[in-house]
Amino acid sequence: MTTVSYAFPDSKRNPIEDHYELKEQLGDGQYSVVKVGVHKLTTEEVAIKIIHRSQTESYEFCNEVELMRQVSDHPGFIKLFDVYEDEKNFTLVMELVRGGELFDKIGQLSTYNEERVAKLLHQIVSALAYLHSKNIVHRDLKPENLLFNDDNATIIKLCDFGVAEKIPERGYLTEIIGTESYMAPEVEDGKPYGVSSDMYGLGVIMYIMLCGYPPFEPENGIVDLEFPEEEWSTISTTVKDLITKLLERDPNKRPTAQEVLNNPWICGDTVQKEELKDTVHTMKIYNHYRASGNLGSMREAKANKKEAVWSIFANGYSKKPKQQKPPKLKKKVQNPQKKQKKKESISIVNIISPRAPDNNNNNNIKKLSEKSPSFRVPFSKINEQPEGPKASPIDELQLSTITHISRDPQELQITVSLLESKLVSLSNINCALESQIDEISGSFTKLKLERDEIRRTLDEALQEIESYRQKNKKKDKK
Ligand code: ATP
Repeated sequence: MTTVSYAFPDSKRNPIEDHYELKEQLGDGQYSVVKVGVHKLTTEEVAIKIIHRSQTESYEFCNEVELMRQVSDHPGFIKLFDVYEDEKNFTLVMELVRGGELFDKIGQLSTYNEERVAKLLHQIVSALAYLHSKNIVHRDLKPENLLFNDDNATIIKLCDFGVAEKIPERGYLTEIIGTESYMAPEVEDGKPYGVSSDMYGLGVIMYIMLCGYPPFEPENGIVDLEFPEEEWSTISTTVKDLITKLLERDPNKRPTAQEVLNNPWICGDTVQKEELKDTVHTMKIYNHYRASGNLGSMREAKANKKEAVWSIFANGYSKKPKQQKPPKLKKKVQNPQKKQKKKESISIVNIISPRAPDNNNNNNIKKLSEKSPSFRVPFSKINEQPEGPKASPIDELQLSTITHISRDPQELQITVSLLESKLVSLSNINCALESQIDEISGSFTKLKLERDEIRRTLDEALQEIESYRQKNKKKDKK
């Protein structure tokens, strides 16, 4: 008999497959996989986010659901339709958006100018203003969490409330959480922070949207903000001023989302209309670097855009380890060793080394355990032995301690409880193993996709060389 503790009183308890046919994968995060689902009766298409129980805590799942529900009526957020829970997974049924992630899409656009950037940002800021009016901090504002509605790339929505948090009564948060490249200095330094930390992430996104590369090199941390002439000379001063204010180290000096909404540039008044062709081109290269995890060489990309693509082939993909996405300084990872193992097993290392020292993870975990009564480390038996031969999880359960079955009702009751708790542990171990199998197969798919991407880029490059050769031949003939 398996005891499942349900996180949500009104969640559906039957398998999601009873109601939806699961189709292609839309994306995956560190903690989940997102697939298209088609309702078996209505044929309505939705996005289905499946979070394995081993990857999150009930408290966090409830929090994500609660916060999504609070903002569901704003057009800037993905709507949450339904919640399912079974012994293996937490599952969210959400509005489906098909337009892809912000930076990926920008890299494919044929027309792109400040006016377009301002319109997109207006939507993002208006969603943020709504969120902040409810005292919620998103804490993971990044391009991967900004999704276009459809291929026209006009409507954008903010997703992933996995680490969002409502500001508690004391008036601030302190956990070090987020994705490093977009993380405000006060969050990174473990100081008290509030909604203005999201405004910093917005500043980073805004900078990249306008020039195609990030304001700071991850390995150097936050240095002086620059607007290099080559890309920025034609960009309007109003937006440069705005970005400078958003990227202020002092959170009190950053404008609020509501103030940004009133900024003349965001309103479209002072925008330039010229095409930002170079930005689209640089963004394409930046996306390659993001996919390979090699953001450190982005300066090269800026200095020499074509050579930078070649440098990926020359020294990137084969020699340098990869990472699909910048790391989130973890809240949901209960066991850092487990996470480390997972990374090693798929040859992914943390190129953008988190500046927070390792013990921060433990601190986070500690904080969580204080906060959440349901906090536990479910799979510690599998992963918490860094050295020496690993004891089998089943050995650890000490099944052999049950040597005889007593006839005494009280003793029998104890034995039954013991057996039940062992069954729960076994089922947890089973889930953990299944999750690791899922991860490995997910990594295979990612590697295949990367390989296809490299092939495509290589083909494009070869075509360019060929046309360059043809041109030279013609010149020589002349
Ligand atoms: P992370 O590691 O970034 O925290 P996560 O596990 O919390 O990720 P999400 O960010 O919610 O998961 O989703 C992962 C990816 O799935 C997104 O980046 C996006 O590409 C895709 N995705 C999520 N929600 C939807 C949706 N409603 N429609 C289409 N695609 C989606």
